[in-house]
Amino acid sequence: MRSVSSCLNFGWNLSEPSADKFGMRKILYIVGSDGDGNLIKARDAEKGNEFFCTVCKTELILRKSGRTGPGSKRPHFAHRTLTPNCTPETALHYSFKTLLSQKILEHISLNRTLQFYWQCGHCYDEHSGNLIKRAKKVAVEYNMTVCQPDIALLDESGNVFAVVEVVVTHRPDDNALKFYKDNNIALIQFDLESDMDLDDLELKISRPDLVSICRNPKCERCGHYQHKTKMSIIEAECWRCHSVMKLAVIEEPYDRGSSIGPSQFFKGEIEIARQNGVNIKEQFSGTVSRRYQANSCPKCPGFIGEHYLFTEYHAPAGYGELKSYSFDIGYYCGVCWTR
Ligand SMILES: [Zn+2]
Ligand SMILES: [Zn+2]
Ligand SMILES: [Zn+2]
Ligand SMILES: [Zn+2]
Repeated sequence: MRSVSSCLNFGWNLSEPSADKFGMRKILYIVGSDGDGNLIKARDAEKGNEFFCTVCKTELILRKSGRTGPGSKRPHFAHRTLTPNCTPETALHYSFKTLLSQKILEHISLNRTLQFYWQCGHCYDEHSGNLIKRAKKVAVEYNMTVCQPDIALLDESGNVFAVVEVVVTHRPDDNALKFYKDNNIALIQFDLESDMDLDDLELKISRPDLVSICRNPKCERCGHYQHKTKMSIIEAECWRCHSVMKLAVIEEPYDRGSSIGPSQFFKGEIEIARQNGVNIKEQFSGTVSRRYQANSCPKCPGFIGEHYLFTEYHAPAGYGELKSYSFDIGYYCGVCWTR
């Protein structure tokens, strides 16, 4: 009937990220560090300088042919000597985490917004947020006893309110997820596929792969995030007496099926429809032999049955054949079924 995500599953597939079909990913070392420990991308690096691996600290050679097109590899670094314990995955993870934390710090110091967008796993709406709205401090590999997030964002009281996890091979474990949830800490996760995720860092940062929170208000009764709803008012003509009549439809409410008519409205929703000039009355339908709330003619006993509401009015209104307007009517809880 209704789907409630379990506490740890935010509505996403939490399986490990997939390697490509050959079982390996081609990740190049495209970030190295200079002698002073500053990160530098291979495409910006100049030959003749010294470069070191960000992970194993050994010397790197810059591979940059200057050629483009088929067969030419993008600029990258290679270890001068064999380093069995250093993997490109670790280097990718380190580089992204470091560059992201530097970017966040830079935005905090300039007080410049760092906007990001995500498709919500709770309400399926598109949300946006500003990564530095509450952040006053950034901590990399912050020790929280139970876990050590890649990046922790701290508010002005020094409390962690959000963490960033960068996933190349390992997602945060269940203990960490539970800890974040129990402590009201938002999780922002970036899944990395290849070194190319470092190419357009700003774009990648603007689109995290997972954000655990919803922007909608929580239900006062059960604490779950509520769902936003939209009502459409359609101006039509009574099929019986041809008087002008208004009809109400709620657009695809989450967990309540596709668009619905007054028979499935909550009390408060019927009230909103009435305030918008819709005459909603209980009617008896011979077709389904039961009584239900229906859009009714204000002048005669005519009313619009649920079936015809969608085929004869709602659909034509969608094509612009009937005058209609839509508006947000606020939130309802898909768990308590209340508004
Ligand atoms: Zn290395
Ligand atoms: Zn949401
Ligand atoms: Zn509720
Ligand atoms: Zn009528």
